[in-house]
Amino acid sequence: MSQTKVFKIASIPADGVGKEVVAAGRRVLDTIAEQSSGKFAFDWTEFPWGCEYYAQHGVMMDPNGLETLKDFDSIYFGAVGWENVPDHVSLWGLRLNITQNFDQWANIRPVKFLPGVTSPLRKADDTELDWIVVRENSEGEYAGLGGRNLSGRGPGNEIALQTALFSEKGCERIIRFAFDLARTRTVKKVSSVTKSNAQQYGMVLWDEVFNRVALDYPEVRTESVLVDAMSAKFILNPEELSVVVASNLNADILSDLGSALAGSLGLAASANLNPERRFPSMFEPVHGTAPDIAGQGICNPIGAIASAALMLEHFGLEQEARRVEAAIEVATGSGNLTRDIGGNADTEAVTEAIVHALSSTLAAV
Ligand code: ATP
Repeated sequence: MSQTKVFKIASIPADGVGKEVVAAGRRVLDTIAEQSSGKFAFDWTEFPWGCEYYAQHGVMMDPNGLETLKDFDSIYFGAVGWENVPDHVSLWGLRLNITQNFDQWANIRPVKFLPGVTSPLRKADDTELDWIVVRENSEGEYAGLGGRNLSGRGPGNEIALQTALFSEKGCERIIRFAFDLARTRTVKKVSSVTKSNAQQYGMVLWDEVFNRVALDYPEVRTESVLVDAMSAKFILNPEELSVVVASNLNADILSDLGSALAGSLGLAASANLNPERRFPSMFEPVHGTAPDIAGQGICNPIGAIASAALMLEHFGLEQEARRVEAAIEVATGSGNLTRDIGGNADTEAVTEAIVHALSSTLAAV
């Protein structure tokens, strides 16, 4: 028998519901590994970083944390942020520290409509909807460039600059990534989103790169849409979407809109990829720490579990990824729904239903 492939995974549940959903995702991943007949296994190391760690140590993660994480095959992340730490400190101290230093420049966020989950979109009842937001994840509006000054002039006179960075290389790599992804999909189309009428430097550069790269993909249809018009399109004509590529901030906002349209923020998955594989990639649900429901065992684990499926895909375990997605559909289709999507099942029950459904999808492959 061939040797078991062991994937070393760093788990960082961090704060709030992050802890609950990471535990659920680990259970699903361990189940799928157990069912692989020795083909692969996961070797987990959990790190206690986050806002509680900050309260004890004054930093969001170990100062050597990046050095430690470098040697893992991937990172499975929960959510970061709590009331004891300003949001920009917790975000930059942990999540953005990892995405930026590991050059995880491609963030993919599929928008999936699940059976049994009611969408606020009436169209979702009888229209096939399925699209992916590809978010530039390393520069743009979240480049972290700028500063504050002039507070010495007295109250009310401080100034702040928050500069967006658009490099030709940064635009090209994410746009090419979107086209390569579109090639693999049934609907071969890329929609590029900017606000280049108002932001005439960075986003016009983006548009030019988009038009140039598109020439290399004649089989992929294209459109360029302003972000305000794209927000309307998400609601009015989402059936026209396949791959939507946008800058860091615009894609962040649009993907929250997409997950709300699919039924809940708790359903949405995401992968922060370093496509060259020089560093580990990071998989996490789109949602935050949900302080309003944290610690009650009632949060939706599906966003985190669907992110685990993206991790399986990243490891080349396509069939296993499809099985996890199918198990999620079996669970929601048979009425295992948390409160955010209109049910009354708790996190444990939904996770259990997905784990149980994995056995039936095992029979199907
Ligand atoms: P953060 O600052 O960490 O992003 P937030 O409250 O601004 O926190 P979210 O944590 O994403 O943003 O929560 C937004 C809303 O979505 C909340 O009402 C929360 O309860 C809900 N929500 C988020 N994640 C889940 C989940 N996994 N299951 C159920 N509801 C969720």
